[in-house]
Amino acid sequence: MIVLMEPTATEGQIADVVERLIAAGVSMQRLDGDRVTIAATGGNTAAAGDSGVDGMAGVAAVIAGSGGTPMVTARESPGNGGVATLATGPAARPERGFQVRGRWIGGTGLFFAAGPCSVEDPETMAAIAAEVAAAGGTALRAGAYKPRSSPYSFQGMGEAGLATARSAADAHGLLLVSEVLDATQIPIATRYVDILQVGARNMYNTSLLRELGRSRRPVLLKRGLAATIDEWLSAAEYIVSAGNPRVILCERGIRTFETATRNTLDLNAVPVVRERTHLPILVDPSHGTGLRTYVRPMARAAIACGADGLLIEVHTDPDRALSDAAQTIDPLTLRQVIRDAEAIRAAGEVDDAYSRATIG
Ligand code: PEP
Ligand code: MN
Repeated sequence: MIVLMEPTATEGQIADVVERLIAAGVSMQRLDGDRVTIAATGGNTAAAGDSGVDGMAGVAAVIAGSGGTPMVTARESPGNGGVATLATGPAARPERGFQVRGRWIGGTGLFFAAGPCSVEDPETMAAIAAEVAAAGGTALRAGAYKPRSSPYSFQGMGEAGLATARSAADAHGLLLVSEVLDATQIPIATRYVDILQVGARNMYNTSLLRELGRSRRPVLLKRGLAATIDEWLSAAEYIVSAGNPRVILCERGIRTFETATRNTLDLNAVPVVRERTHLPILVDPSHGTGLRTYVRPMARAAIACGADGLLIEVHTDPDRALSDAAQTIDPLTLRQVIRDAEAIRAAGEVDDAYSRATIG
């Protein structure tokens, strides 16, 4: 359970709420974001519910969440537009999805982020961005800070890469998604990037997550290599509870005993996440399979099971991509992937209506 204070709540009002919770025997944690939230911790949420803080001066809402992730799995929680537009009416799921610079993610349409694994030279980036736009993409993706398994692999182009990717995206009206590896990169990246990516290897980096929570920039949170869905949602909770409601989850495959593919794309996660949280979810079949021939079939499956869109690695000359060449598709395949995805989404809507009409 969390107590969400009004943005205008005074320190005195916050202290009164804390005192009331202490009197009820509730342990708690105070989180200072856009506004103060007080999260009841330690399994004593029933006492917190009975404490009567609901209705105290300065309290905007008391949110009954399940487990340790009240802000991302709450029946009422910050939805579109975030904490400031919290619905305090009857318990209802918040609206799914939100806008990033006017483009919806998690709404009725699909969201496609595509581009090279790493930012490359300006000519290559310009050519790839043109292909992404022509295929119907929403955002250009490209890493300038690369979390490589080997310290001897290409580590990315840093700020110069961000500038290159930004101009390629702008030339075609695309949003830009790019990864930050640590909190010091956030101020630099926010000068160029519309959506800050947290890579699988950083999903447990709680100080980075908190810092991203203080940022106003939407965050694309990849699932950790061996993270359970609960742990992934807890990582999202770090960001949302620190004041940033615009988190996009991205399933990118998990480590299993299987070696025929780089990872095992866990599409079970899509309906599970859709049931448990209002946050939008993308699927990344590039890292999920590691091999370009499997990207298109798994992209189809991802949309069929309810993903809000895809994150795809594409290059005008895939074999020469600076990183992740084996899983990088060519522009023609990207067009097919996006066309398939739109057709599957449309068929799903028809099928729902058809089933209701004919079966009930
Ligand atoms: C990437 O998107 O290029 C990337 C490094 O992904 P992940 O963190 O999922 O491995
Ligand atoms: Mn990659």
